Amino acid sequence: MSDNWIALIPEDPRHVPDPARQTRARDRFTELAPDSEEIEIKVSDHIAFFDCGENFERIRCPSCDAEIPTEWWQERMDDDYGDNGFTLAQYPTPCCSAKHSLDQLIYEWPQGFARFSLDAMNPNIGRLDDQHKAEFEEILGTRLRVIYQHI
Ligand SMILES: [Zn+2]
Repeated sequence: MSDNWIALIPEDPRHVPDPARQTRARDRFTELAPDSEEIEIKVSDHIAFFDCGENFERIRCPSCDAEIPTEWWQERMDDDYGDNGFTLAQYPTPCCSAKHSLDQLIYEWPQGFARFSLDAMNPNIGRLDDQHKAEFEEILGTRLRVIYQHI
């Protein structure tokens, strides 16, 4: 059996919405996806990585659009991760030496870095449509990235 998660994270990896906004967002997600096995608010002191599991296809450079070797990326992930989570330092990309932090790379499917997430397990709604994404951005007061994790 496989599982699917939808995670909403802020585009700004350091942003944590107010607790009242977090609760409103969870309640709204429960209305939209009542079949979900679990809908969880996660807040951490440090920046964590949110991956897309088997949906992963490739990583591209935001400056020149070249594909970034997964090995290079894995090494930078190791470099960047310390006792306080990810630091999101800037690294010159192997393709064109443009400096980017790991959260600025283009992930297909989307992946991201955050201190806050709203996570739904097996929500059974397919993709979150743009209208609902905009609604969650309004509720949480921040631009969001939607991560579809398939395991
Ligand atoms: Zn490049």
